Amino acid sequence: MIEVFFERALAIVLVFLSYRGFVQIQDFSIRNRVLLSCSPGLYTLTQASWVVARFFGGVNIEMRQSSTIRLPTEVSVMAVANAFLSLLGSSGPVLADGAMGTSLFAAGLESGDPPEMWNLDHPDRVLQIHADYVAAGSEILLTNSFGGNALRLKLHGLQERVVELNQAAAQLARRAADTAERPVVVAGSMGPTGELLEPMGLLTHELCQMVFADQARGLESGGADVLWLETLSDLGEVRDAISGIRTVSSLPLVVTMSFDTAGRTMMGVHARDMAMQLAELGVAAIGANCGNNLADTEAALLEMAQADTGVPLVGKANAGIPEWKGTGLVYSGTPEVMGAHAHRLTQQHVKIIGGCCGSSHEHLRLMRGVIDGVIPVPDVAVGTASTPVGSANTRSRRRASSR
Ligand SMILES: [Zn+2]
Repeated sequence: MIEVFFERALAIVLVFLSYRGFVQIQDFSIRNRVLLSCSPGLYTLTQASWVVARFFGGVNIEMRQSSTIRLPTEVSVMAVANAFLSLLGSSGPVLADGAMGTSLFAAGLESGDPPEMWNLDHPDRVLQIHADYVAAGSEILLTNSFGGNALRLKLHGLQERVVELNQAAAQLARRAADTAERPVVVAGSMGPTGELLEPMGLLTHELCQMVFADQARGLESGGADVLWLETLSDLGEVRDAISGIRTVSSLPLVVTMSFDTAGRTMMGVHARDMAMQLAELGVAAIGANCGNNLADTEAALLEMAQADTGVPLVGKANAGIPEWKGTGLVYSGTPEVMGAHAHRLTQQHVKIIGGCCGSSHEHLRLMRGVIDGVIPVPDVAVGTASTPVGSANTRSRRRASSR
């Protein structure tokens, strides 16, 4: 990984400079933060090399003058290596979290209510969901902001509150992450706009880009380490999202699409094509989330691996197949089913493994145990890739309930 190479190279340069007395390291704190002071000249020089490193290596290291220490002849500099890229460069699989949408319903969210409002109205409940995932062993928390773009929020008259709601979402996940004793990364969840791009639909590329840019601004200001596009089905929308986000943020980007229509996305995208196209756009990781069933998600991930782009893979599948029981959706996947699935993904060298709709912290706890080798791999048969469930009810409910 070139990012990791640059990150380490920069760390070595820092240590060398401090050894020779050119810079003075003030503080080595957790999560790759290095606070140091140096002369203004060296600051400019180092900052320039940082910019070059970022440009060529895709490394995301911020360098800024610290406001906490002011010395007359020296400036203080804080170098922040990105926590998500560090996690990506670690050995072994990384455990993400499970569903937010179904966990919110379990906590009392009513169907049709905007989940993002809970970041302000019930922060304690959202925080508890994040805390449960941290306790289960998750290393990445996705924010409660899946439907937090202006076009989705407009359905609830909340389109003017994009930045506020996304900022609150990221702040809550940040709070849960920062109480953990190990590094936990905050991923700003961004779902689809729910509208079709021109010429098939009415959504212009300009508006689509603006919508994602606004959401990204809110998520980054709330403390997200990475921006995470999920459940997308149209590569055109992904491209616009990335263009828009890049106008306001240089955070690493993850893109996962939903393969829920006979092995393709609803808009007919093949996993292989997705991998080839997104590899050229410099995203940090790609993958599959939600989807119809585990077998379809695993098949899509295998196709991405066979594209051999070198971009790390992410699998966040539904806990089994959604079925209507009474008034609610029930997922057939038990924690054991997801544990066996997690094991298969490690065999496929999928780097980031988590769950989507229907997977709770109980599922994630068992997945953690299986991945770490402390719980035996559950003896559960692999399902077969199926034709889409795709009933209007299932799909509209899933879009409404996010993940
Ligand atoms: Zn889902």
